[in-house]
Amino acid sequence: MTAQLIDGLTLSQEIRVGLGSRIAALTAVGRRPGLAVILVGDDPASAVYVRNKVRACQEHGLHSVLERHDATFSEAALLQRVAALNADPGIHGILVQMPLPPHIDPQKVIAAIDTRKDVDGFSVLSAGELMSGLPGLRPCTPFGCMRLIASTGVVLRGKHAVVIGRSNTVGKPMALLLLQAHATVTVCHSATPDLAWHTRQADIVVAAVGRRNTLRADMVKPGAIVIDVGMNRDDGGKLCGDVDFAAVREALGPQGWITPVPGGVGPMTITMLLVNTVQAAEESA
Ligand code: NAP
Repeated sequence: MTAQLIDGLTLSQEIRVGLGSRIAALTAVGRRPGLAVILVGDDPASAVYVRNKVRACQEHGLHSVLERHDATFSEAALLQRVAALNADPGIHGILVQMPLPPHIDPQKVIAAIDTRKDVDGFSVLSAGELMSGLPGLRPCTPFGCMRLIASTGVVLRGKHAVVIGRSNTVGKPMALLLLQAHATVTVCHSATPDLAWHTRQADIVVAAVGRRNTLRADMVKPGAIVIDVGMNRDDGGKLCGDVDFAAVREALGPQGWITPVPGGVGPMTITMLLVNTVQAAEESA
């Protein structure tokens, strides 16, 4: 018997359906949640991400604006656009798609977004709120991973979680959210010797590396939960995660849980963007 699947598509749908009444209530009082997405340049992957985000807004009755600018758009002009959207009462969330062209400082742009509209949760202030355990908008991917873990019914208090990866957008906020949920957290990264020694002790492993087969069958303990954030391509060009899925699923056994790629973390990231935009609209009164 293999580990149970944590189905991100189904959970996403459930959360989105649950958002419906909140969106309707806001719309009824003239505060339809609005998301502005800015794309600078013509990175094909970014164009797909942005399209999916805007489409999700449209499907669920949110107002959305997609601004596309060519790669030569200046930093000053982008900061001006962010300022205009900060002041726009019809926009409750602002997302500037990364990466930006090299002549634009991403930190400067993120810092310019009104924290109340920082639906990506990437600003220093949002990160500080998370760090301090204050309410605020949480980065969508780790926020979605928490919901995926919660859907298993496993209580995090007292469990040992190992996060592989320490980026500001995934690994670090993931570790803080797990800590807030009373897990004991280990963060591993490229300088961690003997990664398997850590992961074999984990009740929960979150892999956010960007390298396929980082987590293999001999690196997990039976009964653990494995969340695969990675988005990579296999030799045939097919989307895959950081986890050697079939073998790890087998090794986890029937008490274990695992997210697939695709259909796990990916759909949840967009769903949590909708959740954050609705929350920002609710708090904008
Ligand atoms: P990132 O900024 O490149 O960070 C990768 C992290 O992995 C770094 O902290 C790095 O350590 C660590 N690492 C690299 N090699 C390692 C190794 N051999 N052993 C242990 N740790 C190692 O990437 P990211 O933005 O966090 O994204 C991670 C992955 O998640 C990517 O595949 C990305 O595409 C995917 N992702 C998916 C979603 C989604 O919605 N599904 C959203 C965001 C990201 P150092 O810090 O020491 O360099």
